[in-house]
Amino acid sequence: MANPLRVQAAELLRRPGSEKHLDLEVTVDDVGIDDDRFRPTDPVRVHLRLEALTDGIVVNGEVVAPWHGTCRRCAAAAGGVLHSEVHELYQDVVTDPDAFPLEGDQLDLEPMVREVLVLDAPMSPLCRDDCAGLCPQCGTDLNSGSCSCDAPPSDPRWGALDQLRATLDEGDPTD
Ligand SMILES: [Zn+2]
Ligand SMILES: [Zn+2]
Repeated sequence: MANPLRVQAAELLRRPGSEKHLDLEVTVDDVGIDDDRFRPTDPVRVHLRLEALTDGIVVNGEVVAPWHGTCRRCAAAAGGVLHSEVHELYQDVVTDPDAFPLEGDQLDLEPMVREVLVLDAPMSPLCRDDCAGLCPQCGTDLNSGSCSCDAPPSDPRWGALDQLRATLDEGDPTD
């Protein structure tokens, strides 16, 4: 079977300004991703608009795939669907350091799709934005209830610090 990620672009390259739309579904395995955050048989959906220049092709759109991980606070399963935006350039003679090479009159989308997904998948995810995490003393999952560990002694002099800590927690990035 022909590789759907190898796109014939001879027509496009003959007519600068012309466009081609691509909607493909392949698997994580087809894209050659070997990463714990993706499962080999999961679908990867590719929605792209190819636009011909005189010396290359601009590729815009998105790549959509499920990701999987472990919550950094409570160690429960985390996951979701990643929508990675694509703004890439393929060049015949590569002069842009970020461009991908055209192979003759073909675009190989595989390295590009692999790169955007691996770069965009969360490195230290949360199971949900307000995950309460585990008690540092007894390990109870504070999402499912409180534990009987003593609350740390409260001292009014620490009030300002507690407030600062709460502010920092709110600003915690979620991915
Ligand atoms: Zn969690
Ligand atoms: Zn506890």
